[in-house]
Amino acid sequence: MRLILLGAPGSGKGTQASRLKDHLQVPHISTGDLLRAEVAAGSELGIAAKEVMARGELVSDEILLGMLKSRLSRDDCKDGFILDGYPRNVAQANALDALLASIQQPLEAAVQLEVPTELLVERIAGRAKAEGRADDSPESVRTRLKVYNEQTAPVVDFYRNHGNLTVVNGVGELDEVFTRIIEAIDTAASVG
Ligand code: ADP
Repeated sequence: MRLILLGAPGSGKGTQASRLKDHLQVPHISTGDLLRAEVAAGSELGIAAKEVMARGELVSDEILLGMLKSRLSRDDCKDGFILDGYPRNVAQANALDALLASIQQPLEAAVQLEVPTELLVERIAGRAKAEGRADDSPESVRTRLKVYNEQTAPVVDFYRNHGNLTVVNGVGELDEVFTRIIEAIDTAASVG
């Protein structure tokens, strides 16, 4: 299964993606995690990305595409993947389309987790206390939500227009949301 998960910061896509990977037996590829690993390793890429991420802005499309190409070329992606955090703007969506077409691995489903903004803010504030992520400061959170609305929301329309979007209600217990996602994927797969 080749799947992308779309949703605002705090929508729960990371949590759901890591459960989905066990269910679907394909790797969970989080571009945020890949970038945080580069930052932690102090690589050139990580050094370039660090400040941008802390501000809550988008790291360059070029860096992301390079990182993604190399990740998708690994052996464990041969039966599919769950992409979390990519694409985040329409240019990235087009780049992903071209990349997947070139390896004859078209996307099978795009699932958007829908959560009202007030709840997003509440969830991120809770996570900030628990995890202390550098980009969970109030200012960075505001920027990330703004970036989402301005740049990532159009990606949802992109997949709607391509006919493979399913919108899932992201409000509720983790198990409940998980079940909704599985149902959405099963439906998308049977419609194919
Ligand atoms: P969240 O979903 O909470 O925003 P992520 O872990 O997905 O968190 O991303 C954290 C940060 O990593 C983003 O704010 C951005 O700076 C960077 N990032 C992740 N994915 C991308 C991407 N596809 N394009 C550009 N920047 C990205």
